[in-house]
Amino acid sequence: MSTDAPALPASGPLTDARAQLAEAIAHLGVDAGTHRMLATSRREMAVSVPLRRDDGSIATYEGFRVQHNFSRGPAKGGLRFSTAVDLDEVRALAMWMSWKCALVDVPYGGAKGGVAIDPREHSAAELERVTRRYTSEILPIIGPEVDIPAPDIGTDERTMAWIMDTYSASVGHTVPGVVTGKPISLGGSLGRAMATSRGVAHVALMAMASRGVDPAGATAVVQGFGKVGRGAARLLAESGVRVQAVSDVDGAVWADGGLDIARLGEHVDETGSVAGFSGAEAIDASILVTLDVDVVVPAAVEGVITADNAADVKARIIVEGANGPTTNEADAILADMDVLIVPDILANAGGVIVSYFEWVQANQAYQWSEREVNERLEERMTRAWHDVVAYASAHDLSYRQAATALAVRRVIEAHELRGLYP
Ligand code: GLU
Repeated sequence: MSTDAPALPASGPLTDARAQLAEAIAHLGVDAGTHRMLATSRREMAVSVPLRRDDGSIATYEGFRVQHNFSRGPAKGGLRFSTAVDLDEVRALAMWMSWKCALVDVPYGGAKGGVAIDPREHSAAELERVTRRYTSEILPIIGPEVDIPAPDIGTDERTMAWIMDTYSASVGHTVPGVVTGKPISLGGSLGRAMATSRGVAHVALMAMASRGVDPAGATAVVQGFGKVGRGAARLLAESGVRVQAVSDVDGAVWADGGLDIARLGEHVDETGSVAGFSGAEAIDASILVTLDVDVVVPAAVEGVITADNAADVKARIIVEGANGPTTNEADAILADMDVLIVPDILANAGGVIVSYFEWVQANQAYQWSEREVNERLEERMTRAWHDVVAYASAHDLSYRQAATALAVRRVIEAHELRGLYP
């Protein structure tokens, strides 16, 4: 996009994120200079993270923290541990966080971090050392008023506790507001662990209602059975939806009458995977998103609905629990097929909404009840949903185009009110 930026590959999350931005800019009629500013991260840090392994050898991993925008407040976004992490992916995820925070009106800009490591290959002690070293490397650019990490793929509340402790040790006092998604006993928020799933299920039900689909007779599949997919599957099943199939990195399982999500959860707790679950049939995970159901919830990684499989999608509704699961090419194909896509920046915003509540509670040293958290979460998701639906219909846009345009407009408004320094 920017004249001095290196050329982007033909596809990938950053290419898609920048194309989505370009579309929103064209729709809003914004000048090229502002466009270039928003296509570029405000701050990027690349670090190498040396790890002393349990056997005494040293391994070194690439790590990144990207802060896309600060116009609406401190930067906010998850930290990912995955071998797929690279700078362009983190840039895209940071940009999407800016739009997500603006869309659900939490006072943050977007950020994301990542370490190119497979957490499944490491002991807890090694993960702790990697987390602490990564934190100490990015320490100059994080803080409760600067940039607030949270869990993402491959990280969890334990990771957040280590980050908080490392940061706190360096400044000399406990700073609970430096991360969100912490354990409850360290100032985490009630309802945070289920927040993304709750938001996904909530918008899925609103999308179904808008298409006249009764949850009682409806069917769904959920790709991914981790932090987002597992809770979403449970909440959808509790709403009467038959969740017929779920998958994870090791396999996929299917049951015509609907999976028993509680029993499947127990199986996953015991074995680490949905594969081998006795209450269902094993199926090929690659066909999951093309199964004949009403709702598909991709809740794993980017780029799983592509130009290669989009035309085979049979669902009428896709609810993006993951960030960037649908490529732009697939998006165009699905739009022609009149598939309703609830875009990631809306569908999975429940996580950052309750992260914001956690940050507010931590900064005030006060805890809200779980009911209060859930009610406020649903209220914000509902408001954002109606904003997107109204904007899409007023401007004849897809929900993704409408959500991005609304969010970009809000970021630009904040930028213009503050003015460009100096
Ligand atoms: N990693 C989550 C996301 O992609 C949560 C981010 C946060 O809570 O800051 O939205």
